[in-house]
Amino acid sequence: MVKKTVVITGGNRGIGLSITEAFIDAGYFVVVGARQELGLEKRFGNQISFVHVDVRDESAHHRLTDAAIEKTGILDVYVNNAGFSEWRPIAEIDEQFLDELINTNLKGAFWGCKAASSAMQEGGSIINISSIAGKRGSTNNSAYCASKFGVNGLTQALAKELGPREIRVNALCPVLIPTDGLIEALKNPFSPAEGDPQGFISKFEAANTALGRLPTGAEIAAMALFLVSDKASAMTGQCINVDCGVFPQ
Ligand code: NDP
Repeated sequence: MVKKTVVITGGNRGIGLSITEAFIDAGYFVVVGARQELGLEKRFGNQISFVHVDVRDESAHHRLTDAAIEKTGILDVYVNNAGFSEWRPIAEIDEQFLDELINTNLKGAFWGCKAASSAMQEGGSIINISSIAGKRGSTNNSAYCASKFGVNGLTQALAKELGPREIRVNALCPVLIPTDGLIEALKNPFSPAEGDPQGFISKFEAANTALGRLPTGAEIAAMALFLVSDKASAMTGQCINVDCGVFPQ
């Protein structure tokens, strides 16, 4: 049986790696695009193809869609996951920082959606990994929040634009997930962790979640798999919180 294909940007570590694992378990051929390979091809063998890319470059996304189409002739799913967070007060935001953050988190997702929409056929599905920071603002987080509000706007607009072609576009909005990327960001003195990332995470989950815990990368991946499945065939343009009840909406 011909496998389905998925492109996952940043599928080599953190939340993206959980998404890679889930799609491989579900029988997909996975194309991962990131700057570092990190042993993926050794671990997953012929179930995966790694392409060195920087998501800020538009052409990178066409190389990713080409790699999927080369495998099976069809691109089924595109997951825009690559991104980073860095807390900074507005007074500390300069052009270089803003360009790097917006170009990675927002422009990277734009180029991913553009390449995916030109490569996909009817029935294709795009998932953008946004954040609850794309739904509400928080202190010292204006650049990241703006990038993720942008991702949600991109998701809603493209759902309308691509719906007539039966391509669905949805976003997932996780709360804190203790990946290496998050822990690194929480070490920044401008972050809310005040020098104690683990202590901050423990207090946050006790004080803010309904379930008394934070979601895992595997739980984000499970939602992504659901959204691209036929069971979610009526879902498009949705930006779904996956947050253990921090932010009911
Ligand atoms: P990590 O820092 O753990 O991983 C980031 C991923 O993005 C890596 O795979 C990295 O690969 C890739 N990446 C970053 N910049 C680029 C680039 N310029 N070109 C190609 N790939 C790039 O982050 P998380 O797993 O925590 O986050 C993943 C996504 O989830 C991000 O969009 C983030 O904003 C979002 N998110 C995370 C939350 C969390 O609490 N962890 C909460 C809500 C949303 P490499 O460095 O090899 O290029």
